[in-house]
Amino acid sequence: MVNKKISGKIEDIKKGLLERKVALEQDLIRLSNEKLSDDQVQDVGDQAFTLTMEALRSSIQNSENEEYNRIIKALEAIEDGTYGICVDCSGEISEKRLMHYPNASRCIACQEKAELVG
Ligand SMILES: [Zn+2]
Repeated sequence: MVNKKISGKIEDIKKGLLERKVALEQDLIRLSNEKLSDDQVQDVGDQAFTLTMEALRSSIQNSENEEYNRIIKALEAIEDGTYGICVDCSGEISEKRLMHYPNASRCIACQEKAELVG
């Protein structure tokens, strides 16, 4: 099943996804290489700061990793010709939604249901 509504835009969407993928890759590499604390002895305030920054960094890493995985899936779906099809109900995801969320794998109705369930 193919989402025909967006077939004319698929190249643009793919380009956008690939650009985002490269940006995320660079960001994730930078985050994993970045060293927040140096080897000097830290006082308690510095340690607390470092811990906060590390927590922040790992939460950024997690969300970027998640987005990265969704982009990979979206690109795979483009290759398979299943892009723009809801993974839950197999309905077409609206063009408007895909323009805003190019890595969306569910239609709005199913996404809302999925979020309610958690
Ligand atoms: Zn759906």
